[in-house]
Amino acid sequence: MTHKAPSFAERNLFFSDRVWSWFHLVELRLVSANVLVLGGGPAGGASALELAQAGCDVVLLERQTTPGWKVGETLPPEARVHLQRLKHWERFQNSGHLPCYGIVSCWGSSIPVERDFLMNPYGHGWQLDRAKFEGTLLQAARDAGCQVFYGAEVQAIHQSHEWHLETSVGEFRGSWLLDCTGSKGILAKKGLAGSFEPLQDYISLYCVLSSATRTDRDARTYVESHPMGWVYSALMPSGLRIIAFLTDRDLLPRSISTAEWLQQIIEECSQIPRLLQDHAYPQIEKVHQISAVSGRYQNFAGSHWILVGDAGMRFDPLSGWGSTKAIVSAAAAVQMVLKGSNYQANCEKLWNSYLRQYRDYYLAELRWPDSPFWYRRHQIVLT
Ligand SMILES: Cc1cc2nc3c(=O)[nH]c(=O)nc-3n(C[C@H](O)[C@H](O)[C@H](O)COP(=O)(O)OP(=O)(O)OC[C@H]3O[C@@H](n4cnc5c(N)ncnc54)[C@H](O)[C@@H]3O)c2cc1C
Repeated sequence: MTHKAPSFAERNLFFSDRVWSWFHLVELRLVSANVLVLGGGPAGGASALELAQAGCDVVLLERQTTPGWKVGETLPPEARVHLQRLKHWERFQNSGHLPCYGIVSCWGSSIPVERDFLMNPYGHGWQLDRAKFEGTLLQAARDAGCQVFYGAEVQAIHQSHEWHLETSVGEFRGSWLLDCTGSKGILAKKGLAGSFEPLQDYISLYCVLSSATRTDRDARTYVESHPMGWVYSALMPSGLRIIAFLTDRDLLPRSISTAEWLQQIIEECSQIPRLLQDHAYPQIEKVHQISAVSGRYQNFAGSHWILVGDAGMRFDPLSGWGSTKAIVSAAAAVQMVLKGSNYQANCEKLWNSYLRQYRDYYLAELRWPDSPFWYRRHQIVLT
């Protein structure tokens, strides 16, 4: 028996039928839940997990189709307490993250100082596989009963007697809205949270390098100050090494490429060049750029809405506390949903303790008072 190829009309009928039914399905999807969590980073994952564990009817929407790589690898030892409270510690430990036994810094002097985590009561820190970190949090939330939608980009938000979301996969309704969309901060952009108060607007140039010898096992975090900013480097669980330089946008050179500039900056550092040389890392060729603006919104929460993690406040990457803060603020958000506790006051405390830390860090580097980068930081901390 021979099969006749479908005619053009038949093919189009088939195609249009498929498209129609897909749209129809999408239009028909309307999901209701008590709490809608937007964003599946550490803030969203931790919020959804804890709410689901408390028996709450919760839905999480993440625009990416699968958890992907992100900058932000270092997790401090103190994060352990929060992961244990979420009953996520065991899963976390089995996810292939690299133990990090300390921080080597050249800050305030070119002499390296090592802060070993040996004496830390919480043990060592971690260099994260970010995709796994976020993926396992979302899987744990799902196991606890949360409905997780990947590939669900929130496109419009309406509030009447409840929240109504339009997304790329359908419509969602809920009583509470937790905005965990990181620096996108889609709810705050609607003007609900007042103005964004920037502390500093700077950027990170970063590259990811592969050692030719594959001999690098040094999972400590390296941090070095430089007249134009500061550099950090960390080995990732994949075996690749990230090197990032944080500087002010207006200090970027116009005459040479960012790759050449980053190479030059690294060579002027004290410890990182030796590390790169010892493990035969190649010259920097490809450099990425990402915003590292830090600051906060005036209001972290309002009537049935909460800004969690970076959506509400962004820390300087120097703190290494971005993901931990996201998890800590998630716990406070859950307390507001379940018990009506004062989220604004809890976040004010978090922000104030960050400001004290920020002040201490930048006042510890006084070698280049006239360099614009350091002059600006000193102005911030001294006013
Ligand atoms: C250069 C640099 C280095 C850093 N280094 C560190 C570090 O070493 N350690 C550390 O702890 N922190 C670090 N951070 C900060 C850290 O990455 C963030 O603080 C942390 O990721 C915040 O988590 P979050 O869940 O609030 O936001 P995010 O991790 O940004 O997650 C937000 C999620 O929301 C999703 N989303 C966005 N818009 C939508 C939408 N419309 N619909 C649905 N989903 C959406 C995104 O896809 C994303 O998955 C660094 C930051 C920078 C810039």
